[in-house]
Amino acid sequence: MRINRIKDNDIANGFGITMSLWTQGCPHKCKGCFNSETWSFTDGEEFTEEKLSYIMDNIDKHNIKRDLSILGGEPLCPENIEGVIYVCKKFKNKYPEKKIYLWTGYTVENFNEFQKEILKYADVLVDGKFEEERKNISLTLRGSSNQRVINVKETLKENKLILFDLENK
Ligand code: SF4
Repeated sequence: MRINRIKDNDIANGFGITMSLWTQGCPHKCKGCFNSETWSFTDGEEFTEEKLSYIMDNIDKHNIKRDLSILGGEPLCPENIEGVIYVCKKFKNKYPEKKIYLWTGYTVENFNEFQKEILKYADVLVDGKFEEERKNISLTLRGSSNQRVINVKETLKENKLILFDLENK
């Protein structure tokens, strides 16, 4: 897996402070994408065990409690999914109480068997491509209104799609 960057203190991609990991490479190429530097599958840098250790060892750096956000690029495309699942598995094993937020351009109903693995680890899943015609900068955690902020644990428990009540977060 290649990554674009890691940001230690992110207040824009979670319900609190997160450490955020941007994967590199995206097959969707949404019109109006605000992150097109992440499209190339050859840019960025290789994700290494050292980078994983950095996340694991610094998630609460300076006594700031952080969750983990994984964005893209596309974390769940064939080039990235194995690495992303590996990171999530390691992270949740060590920090089961911490949230994982994950953004994907795929929709959960169309996940393949491999992509469904992510539902074991992600707590908050924002799905769907960015649609410029439905762009709304006031939306929480999303760029366009077709995208959904899914409560993964409740969705699995209820066996039906449950969205976060973002008005009453
Ligand atoms: S899925 Fe995200 S990164 Fe990929 S093109 Fe769409 S908005 Fe950009």
